[in-house]
Amino acid sequence: MKNLNQVNKTNMEQQGKVRGIELTATESWLAPFMKENIQKNVDYITNIHDEYTHKIESIIYEGIKDGSSYKTIRMQLEEQIGMSQRRAKFIAVDQSGTLFGQMTAQRHQNMGVNRFKWLTSKDERVRDSHKVLSNKIFSYDDPPNVGLPGEDYRCRCVAIPIFD
Ligand SMILES: [Zn+2]
Repeated sequence: MKNLNQVNKTNMEQQGKVRGIELTATESWLAPFMKENIQKNVDYITNIHDEYTHKIESIIYEGIKDGSSYKTIRMQLEEQIGMSQRRAKFIAVDQSGTLFGQMTAQRHQNMGVNRFKWLTSKDERVRDSHKVLSNKIFSYDDPPNVGLPGEDYRCRCVAIPIFD
């Protein structure tokens, strides 16, 4: 999770640069976007919405915002929420990957890119359900059933922007 946003942004800037697109330095959409998505993601994995989920959300949000490590976030979930280490680790890892995928999708769309190519890491660890998506082009309006690249747990797939 450390440098998650910076890696994502650098990635996008490089992709944008190739096509001569300048990304703005200030991304005012980012904080509300992160909050909204973390809330949706946490609701999805907990199935309830109460004080407990609010607390989980704020730990994840602050952690990602500050560039904390997985371990720091995991430990905060353990200490402040009383979560088991296994569950805390799952949530910390899962949430960073999911957000990475969602931020990429949003950045693409902010650049006017509405379609993406699914790229896998092309090794034996790629799950079958993602292998079949390899090099296929999707619209952000109609992504595949598994969601966006990076959203599945520990998914290392990426979205390559398609410039019309
Ligand atoms: Zn994948």
